[in-house]
Amino acid sequence: MNCLEEKILKDGLVKEGNVLKVDSFLNHQMDINLFNEMGKEWKKRFEGKQINKILTIEASGIGIACIAAQHFGVPVVFAKKSKSINLEGEMYTAEVESFTHKKKNTVIVSKKFLNEDDHVLLIDDFLANGCALQGLIQIVQAAGATVEGIGIAIEKGFQSGGTMIRNLGYQLESLAIVDEMNWETGEIKFR
Ligand code: 5GP
Repeated sequence: MNCLEEKILKDGLVKEGNVLKVDSFLNHQMDINLFNEMGKEWKKRFEGKQINKILTIEASGIGIACIAAQHFGVPVVFAKKSKSINLEGEMYTAEVESFTHKKKNTVIVSKKFLNEDDHVLLIDDFLANGCALQGLIQIVQAAGATVEGIGIAIEKGFQSGGTMIRNLGYQLESLAIVDEMNWETGEIKFR
């Protein structure tokens, strides 16, 4: 068992509606030593890939991506949730439906920060149905850049995103894959 899985068992809370709450160490209060171990592990798993940029999505991916970026020695760009309407031209945009909030957001990345020379590692905290990742992939493709790989902290293996992303041929490295979780007993099983 790796240190992320151990931490999930110790401090993660299973909530109704297939939600795993990890706000005490991952996406509200942040355990930086853990993030550092995660970054090290992704660096190992993506060895040999020519990655020059990390792309993540506001807000929970940012902290994880920044610590990981120290292991890759590359900048981090995050897709911003935007309320502005008329940004086409300067921005790449994608529609992303939030799994936890059930609402649609337009996310944007400035054309200044992503182009056809970029070889991108996508990083996020969770993979559920894959909507957030699809949005990020769409933005990378619109820029003519290349997705070199995808690093996820927690994949919920009982939801469809992981299979969908792997079927598209991407190297997806999820550090913990939860295959079963029960909000009544609190039990969590990893792959
Ligand atoms: P997807 O787009 O793959 O359906 O969902 C991924 C996004 O939803 C992640 O960026 C994450 O913020 C959020 N998310 C999905 N499932 C969970 C969950 O079980 N717990 C928490 N805390 N966030 C989740």
